[in-house]
Amino acid sequence: MFTKILIANRGEIACRVIKTARKMGILTVAVYSDADVDSLHVNMADEAIHIGASPSRESYLLSEKVIAAAKRTGAQAIHPGYGFLSENADFCRMCTKAGITFIGPPVAAIEAMGSKSAAKNIMEKAQVPLVPGYHGDDQSMAVIKKAADDMGYPVLLKATAGGGGKGMRQVWHEDEFAEGFAAAKREAKSSFGDDRMLVEKYLTQPRHVEIQVFCDNHQNAVYLFERDCSVQRRHQKVIEEAPAFSMSEELRAQMGESAIKSAQAIGYQGAGTVEFLLDVDGSFYFMEMNTRLQVEHPVTELITGQDLVEWQLRVAAGEVLPKAQHELKINGHAFEARIYAEDPNNDFLPATGTLDFLQPPVESEFVRVDTGVRQGDEVSVFYDPMIAKLIVWDENREKALQRLAKALSEYRINGVTTNIDFLYNLATCAPFVNADIDTSFIEKNQAIIFHDSEQSLAGELPMAALYLVLSQAQQAKAKAAKTNDPFSPWNMTNAWRLNEANIHHMILAHNGSEYPIIVEQKRQGSGSYYLISVDGQTVDCQGRIENDTLYASIDGYRSHTTIAQNAHQISLYHQNGVFNFTHVLPDCGDNSADDNHGGLLAPMNGTMVSVLIKAGDSVTADQPLMIMEAMKMEHTIRAPSKGVVDAIYYNDGDMVDGGAELLAFTAEEA
Ligand code: ADP
Repeated sequence: MFTKILIANRGEIACRVIKTARKMGILTVAVYSDADVDSLHVNMADEAIHIGASPSRESYLLSEKVIAAAKRTGAQAIHPGYGFLSENADFCRMCTKAGITFIGPPVAAIEAMGSKSAAKNIMEKAQVPLVPGYHGDDQSMAVIKKAADDMGYPVLLKATAGGGGKGMRQVWHEDEFAEGFAAAKREAKSSFGDDRMLVEKYLTQPRHVEIQVFCDNHQNAVYLFERDCSVQRRHQKVIEEAPAFSMSEELRAQMGESAIKSAQAIGYQGAGTVEFLLDVDGSFYFMEMNTRLQVEHPVTELITGQDLVEWQLRVAAGEVLPKAQHELKINGHAFEARIYAEDPNNDFLPATGTLDFLQPPVESEFVRVDTGVRQGDEVSVFYDPMIAKLIVWDENREKALQRLAKALSEYRINGVTTNIDFLYNLATCAPFVNADIDTSFIEKNQAIIFHDSEQSLAGELPMAALYLVLSQAQQAKAKAAKTNDPFSPWNMTNAWRLNEANIHHMILAHNGSEYPIIVEQKRQGSGSYYLISVDGQTVDCQGRIENDTLYASIDGYRSHTTIAQNAHQISLYHQNGVFNFTHVLPDCGDNSADDNHGGLLAPMNGTMVSVLIKAGDSVTADQPLMIMEAMKMEHTIRAPSKGVVDAIYYNDGDMVDGGAELLAFTAEEA
């Protein structure tokens, strides 16, 4: 076994690998960029080497620097994590040349899976089922279109060099083929410098089911069952689970064996994932093989009781696989939710900022949090905005899903916008609970997940108001306890006012509407109860707050609800979604923020990719004006209304700070 390894990565995956290495008595070396000088992975490693500036192409993607760091520290092997250099055949080759073990598959296996059409040719020979389609060398539009016409629409065009959903286009009708073909080619050319295309039958209700495989260099291969990763946005996974729901043992074995066949067809070694599309009729088709450890590997670890990083290290060191197929069993059910710094209400725009307050749920045998950040850390513009992976386990899907909802409701992050509420709504909505899931789940259930439809707030408004008065009382009590005169009337914990009834007026806002609320406090023995009126309806409320839970009795109905308060926002985590309210404070004249600044602001830190207009141009509402890029995603800045662009403050390639004014704009009167 190795005595020292280097981890050519950052964030949660670097921390994850370090944990296992430490458990196995292996020393670890971290590498870091300028932005990561004080980061958690650097802190956790035994040694760390600085490899360059913050942008990944000037640090984490520099093969030579990473290899030099391994040589300098005497690391015998490199774990590439996922992303960065993990599927880079040249890097793998350079490691071997430098006498360092690459903890991953052989160069040839990475190369074989590098092109979608070459991979399909190999799988076809190995008799692994493929989605019907054409992946040949003849790239003329006539040939590719004929293949589409023959199999029938809809079809999916894919760049053979593709990845990350780029260079992909659905075509629903013969007449749209030429346009879709040209667009997909353009995108492929600009993303990969290679515009070769293949075409597949487009499945309208597939699931994304992938199989974890492992091979050693002693001819052994096993599959560690499947993960369902159908819940995606922009072709990126959001919540994953293992095992997949409603899988027969027969189908599981068929897919497992196909996955092993795929791996063996390319002489695979180490951890790999074979991705399949599973159609409604139970047919499954090879999509691609990822020649690395996946982000979502923990769900497999929790249902098999195996440490996949330990397996990777053992295989790379030449040992045989720790378990044979018959020794592997599925135990219970696991979910993973990816906690991102992003704004689901604004097209999942990545968010940046400082994690002012960070309190993950308590870890246990049921709850695991894999993260690379601590309170006070920065989510920067340079890397993937994932804050953590929340992984839960229980004996069946229903119980595990309850654990997921509970843990999400307990995840507290202030300072950066996150997708936690979106994940909570998703995990608690009926179609997800009932496993009515395919790859278009989020689009189909948009209204439920985003609470777009009308909601009754009859139960929630009194609860939010009760929470507010109780928490104000609690704060006043805590403050009074600190003073010399705890009995002073100025430290009363109720709404006591000279010559006035114990009455509070407050306004709560929800989804853009404001609700005036009256709360009257009444004494009862040594305690109090409250009469809360909304819209002329009065309910009788009592309650107490313990930690983040409100124990409430409203007109005799008792319940307990997890509630989070962040400044003036109150979030109620209910069984069927989260309800957010804003406590609207009286305007004291300091609300000087003015939206009619006549300019457009950058929505985040990033790079200006393309300015599409000139100063003086007249534009129509919604017309794309500029394209910015941040964290590997493009965002289009559009005209808010019809008007004229007076001036432009940035050029292509410029770095832009979030909030900076991008251009001056005069709206035209309607
Ligand atoms: P990339 O390598 O760009 O991520 P993939 O080939 O892995 O592209 O496909 C990404 C996602 O697109 C899949 O997870 C699935 O949701 C969808 N997809 C891919 N091929 C098809 C198909 N033939 N029919 C329907 N959906 C598909």
